Amino acid sequence: MEANTAMRVDEVSAPQTLNDAVAVFKRWPEAIVWAGGTLLYRRAARENSKAAVSIIDLGNIHELKTIMRTDRYLELGACVCLADILDLPATLSLEPLRTAVGKIGSATIRNMATIGGNLAAKDFFMTCFAPLICMDAAIEIRDKNGARWAGMQNFINQDGSPAFPSASILSRIRIPISNWNATAIKVMGNMEAGEPCPATFAASARVEKDILSEARLILAGKRLARDRNLELALAGKRLPLAARDMDMAKQNGFLAARAAGFSEDKARRFSANLEAFLSVSLEAGI
Ligand SMILES: Cc1cc2nc3c(=O)[nH]c(=O)nc-3n(C[C@H](O)[C@H](O)[C@H](O)COP(=O)(O)OP(=O)(O)OC[C@H]3O[C@@H](n4cnc5c(N)ncnc54)[C@H](O)[C@@H]3O)c2cc1C
Repeated sequence: MEANTAMRVDEVSAPQTLNDAVAVFKRWPEAIVWAGGTLLYRRAARENSKAAVSIIDLGNIHELKTIMRTDRYLELGACVCLADILDLPATLSLEPLRTAVGKIGSATIRNMATIGGNLAAKDFFMTCFAPLICMDAAIEIRDKNGARWAGMQNFINQDGSPAFPSASILSRIRIPISNWNATAIKVMGNMEAGEPCPATFAASARVEKDILSEARLILAGKRLARDRNLELALAGKRLPLAARDMDMAKQNGFLAARAAGFSEDKARRFSANLEAFLSVSLEAGI
């Protein structure tokens, strides 16, 4: 079977349940999980590999398309499409994820593309990964050993590269419902211009009585840059930040991005985005 000119598909399994989907890995350990296919299709077209692949199509698994909301969190099935996230009530506090989703592809792409496919990408941190770290989200993974929840931070290797486990299915994403005083998203680059993945700057912060109580400051792309010591050093500082604290943030942000392998240009833009967030956005959020 030829799914398209660039991917030779040998076998397709379209299970109806998650358990059945996980069981397919016993037969085909190298099988590719297919959700919306928007990223897989692009990659296949770019790489033009003629190797035959086996596919597990998640499209018939109803439980992966459910959205559940409690007082404390929002739970998204992995196959919820990006358009459905944008359709969630505006009163639901969903920043910075909502803005990030709105920056992905076109309306047509967002109708097919899923949140799970965005987070489970193997080579890059796609646009939703960094904002979900900023929101303290957790994801549920199913594999032959059962189901487990883990914070998003657990899916990053020591060198800052993506660490989504093989032969596993991402089933749910749990996002705490929480009001951040300030959030930011900036996408640097454009997949439509042929880039494999744009880099994403994402930030969130809480402020209590003019004091910055916590901040998350992330740059993600091929690697993920996050300086936890900087975040800890900024916590407890009075706003507006003193010039020396702002300089420290800009400098440490630049160095963290360079250490993660970002170009000098992207590292500078990270540093400039940090400055804008820690001054303009934070003061507007107080
Ligand atoms: C024109 C265009 C522009 C785009 N712009 C952007 C952009 O700006 N930012 C961005 O982030 N993306 C962009 N994309 C890529 C893509 O649309 C999104 O990343 C999308 O969210 C991927 O979801 P999907 O369901 O299509 O994933 P798929 O293509 O089905 O899968 C993507 C990867 O995740 C794995 N996978 C999927 N679901 C699961 C699961 N539940 N469990 C385990 N593994 C799974 C697949 O095996 C594959 O490795 C763009 C795509 C196009 C065509």
